[in-house]
Amino acid sequence: MNESQAALSLVTAEESAPRDARQELVDALAEGDLRFHQLPKEMSARRQAEVRRDALSKISGARLDSMGHYPFDDERVSRQNCENFLGAVQVPVGVIGPLRIRGEYVQDEELYVPLATTEGALVASTNRGCRALREAGGAVVRVDNVGITRAPVFRTSGVVETREFIQWLEVNTEEIRRRTEAGSRFLKLLDIRPQAMGTTVFLRFRFDSGDAMGMNMATIACDRVIEDFIEPQTGVECVSLSGNFCVDKKPSHVNFQEGRGKRLFAEVQLDKQILHKVLKTNARALVEVQYRKNLLGSIAAGSLGFNAHFANILAAFFLATGQDPAQVAESAVGVTTIEPRGPEGVIASVYLPDVPLAAVGGGTSLATQQEALALLGVQADSERPGHAVMRLAEILGASVLAGELSLLSALTSRDLARAHEKLGRSGAKS
Ligand code: ADP
Repeated sequence: MNESQAALSLVTAEESAPRDARQELVDALAEGDLRFHQLPKEMSARRQAEVRRDALSKISGARLDSMGHYPFDDERVSRQNCENFLGAVQVPVGVIGPLRIRGEYVQDEELYVPLATTEGALVASTNRGCRALREAGGAVVRVDNVGITRAPVFRTSGVVETREFIQWLEVNTEEIRRRTEAGSRFLKLLDIRPQAMGTTVFLRFRFDSGDAMGMNMATIACDRVIEDFIEPQTGVECVSLSGNFCVDKKPSHVNFQEGRGKRLFAEVQLDKQILHKVLKTNARALVEVQYRKNLLGSIAAGSLGFNAHFANILAAFFLATGQDPAQVAESAVGVTTIEPRGPEGVIASVYLPDVPLAAVGGGTSLATQQEALALLGVQADSERPGHAVMRLAEILGASVLAGELSLLSALTSRDLARAHEKLGRSGAKS
């Protein structure tokens, strides 16, 4: 009897004697006679998850009961989001705000923003930044919709074929556009940027993907046009659908220069009173920390990002709103600027050129993430594709600015360690 026949006979047994059959499945998984993806298809996602947890408990001795508590639709999740579904891990969510934003999609509103984190002091600190922004009249935010990129890599016979391939591409761009856009009314090809090195050619496709982050849509569209059109017409073989020149989920110079997903700018002017009263700092000290830490420190370290902690706010915002957390790796590359402005005030900004973001698709459809998006007033409208995700991007830009200002101010007054001592420690002596 093979493994799937074994699973089928066990589920048949389950109908007549449920507890025994369930235990047989647990035992088969624990013994390695059945793989975790081979549980009977007829079994609900919830029961499958229970069986997997019990088998893992049997194997490891660990109790996995807490993972069985979750509010989302597990049938859908196990189909669309997570194979070998086991349950859920939970991340606490805190709120910052009101955060006043003066953008183009958030036109002078005050919002409460959920952040999912286990890092004590992060929410409190970012909340202090929100107060500074509010008292200064709000964060001015602008977002460019750069587009999502996917760069397959091709192999040619040599430099001559490489050049012919690129020329062919230029002549046939319109047909490539027609074919890539055929699969979804939300996907628009913006351009294709070739990059050649000897026998290797990357084609960096850039798409507008509406309210979706777009990586799946772009990948599927590229795959189709390569297989049906580019390879048969040119004879040039695609070696990999992703050639790492995309660049997805890795910090990179090309994304820093050309942008990817959304490009965020957020800015505020802070006067002496706000610096003193809210942020417990002053212009001279803030400008100096910015210069010596964010600029010189990052140069000394060879960092790609010139900021204090974009990743902290990005990760907490991504988890709360259902983004792909792996894309924090690229999104955290960016620059903070702080310059003297007015009598003992500053003008401060954050620049994030590479932020893939979604209001639909991926983790945004889960119950708790949907609630977080609803709290922010972010809801995709198919009549205005792209509008909701631009709103989300503006909120993120202002949140990052709040977090950055508060941490840099804390560093000027040596408040950082004290805040962590008070808010972030479990009390355990180390
Ligand atoms: P992604 O391509 O972002 O990785 P998905 O694979 O979930 O994520 O694709 C997004 C899906 O959402 C597509 O099937 C697309 O047709 C659908 N969709 C529905 N409404 C919209 C919208 N307003 N903007 C973009 N896509 C949308």
